[in-house]
Amino acid sequence: MKSINPYTGELLKDIEEHSEEDIDIIINKAEAAFQGWKKRSMDERSSLMNKAAEVLRKNKEKYAKIISLEMGKVISESRSEVEKCAWVCEYYAEKSADFLADEPIHLPDGKEAKVAYDPLGTILAVMPWNFPFWQVFRFAAPNLTAGNTGLLKHASNVPQCALAIEEVFSEAGFPKGVFQTLIIGSRKVEKVINHSKVKAVTLTGSEKAGQIIAAQAGKQIKKTVLELGGSDPFIVLKDADIEAAAKTAAKGRMINFGQSCIAAKRFIVEAPVYDQFISAFKSHIQNYQAGDPLDENANYACMARPDLAEELYQQVKSSIDRGAEVILEGSGPNEGKANFKPFILGNLRPDMPAYSEELFGPVASVFKVKDEKEAIKLANDSNFGLGAALWTKAPEKAEKLAREIESGAVFINSMVASNPHLPFGGIKNSGYGRELAENGIKEFMNIKTVFKG
Ligand code: NAP
Repeated sequence: MKSINPYTGELLKDIEEHSEEDIDIIINKAEAAFQGWKKRSMDERSSLMNKAAEVLRKNKEKYAKIISLEMGKVISESRSEVEKCAWVCEYYAEKSADFLADEPIHLPDGKEAKVAYDPLGTILAVMPWNFPFWQVFRFAAPNLTAGNTGLLKHASNVPQCALAIEEVFSEAGFPKGVFQTLIIGSRKVEKVINHSKVKAVTLTGSEKAGQIIAAQAGKQIKKTVLELGGSDPFIVLKDADIEAAAKTAAKGRMINFGQSCIAAKRFIVEAPVYDQFISAFKSHIQNYQAGDPLDENANYACMARPDLAEELYQQVKSSIDRGAEVILEGSGPNEGKANFKPFILGNLRPDMPAYSEELFGPVASVFKVKDEKEAIKLANDSNFGLGAALWTKAPEKAEKLAREIESGAVFINSMVASNPHLPFGGIKNSGYGRELAENGIKEFMNIKTVFKG
């Protein structure tokens, strides 16, 4: 499996893939580890999770550099990502005992029962490259603390990150087999799903991968959590703080060079403030500095792979060919490269990719609407339903409209962001199930009723 620097095209490492035989050995090891791991006390598991946070912080520079070199995000963002992973480890180390405590039930006839949370076993995590550490840790921290064991099948372009994460848990002192990385391509995933010792699957990735993996797991009657794509609306009403909204909108679209499922992608603005918003939004985006992924002052470098840059550019070109207005003229990649410059597109119609598809990179789709009713209607006119941002200075109106938006989260006067304290996940084609918070740790637990007769 090739680890390639997308900024230079240089081959960083060629890592040997696991064979069919290796896969069996690894899965058996995960199951054997589960038998001991589930019996450890929550205190022991939590203290190891705190150790994982220490390892992450101690090696922050090393891991940040691997992330930046392997997927092209700028080093300041990679450092924040490693920090965030340490945060989620500490969060679950502190909270899991409460989240998974027995829950007594007093029945009307005087009988007693309780709900107990038991781990399910070995869970397969199929993960994307865009936040190559964070996506994995938000699966691993709750699940390992809860007593499950984890198998990671990471995206094929980030094998060094995958191995580095395995190293974090081993350096922290987790027993062998509790967290392992499978170096395999997507074709071998079905075999892992079918293995009787794998109990459930979580996928963060595209709709297409979601359909395939959910079908394969469904055939085996194994639970899935799907964290898929998004085309999040960012709604700006006429009574909003326009300057703050425009600055946050630019950040929301440009973070991780636009390659985020919860990035604001469709900017829906009430007509009276449209020009003011667009002018400020455009100028903020123009101020973002390009540079090398290791450049301390760069805001962005390149996309994660040349094919992803090309795919995004085709979506832009097709929208422009169908009549989209170019509000900010960017540029597509040079032949075989992953470079890209941001675009803002307006005057969009449903037959254009910039209206209806997920644009997984630095391209903003903007819409002018006559009132808030039209804004909500347009926001909901999407196959996706991950997050949404809503800007208004009227708190009651914001709460009311938040309930009308079809998405897994609504952030008022803020950009959508993941946070260990908040449940994260989508509806519609954005998937199902939740990660993070108390909801996240319960997804792969046996919610066991114990009745006392
Ligand atoms: P992707 O192509 O679906 O890949 C994600 C993972 O799934 C990779 O490990 C990939 O392996 C694997 N995969 C792909 N097709 C598969 C198949 N047929 N069978 C088994 N495994 C398969 O997605 P991506 O391009 O890496 O990531 C971008 C997408 O992820 C976007 O749509 C984005 O919105 C979404 N995403 C969602 C969230 C969320 O929390 N909702 C977060 C981040 C990203 P290979 O690399 O080996 O193909």
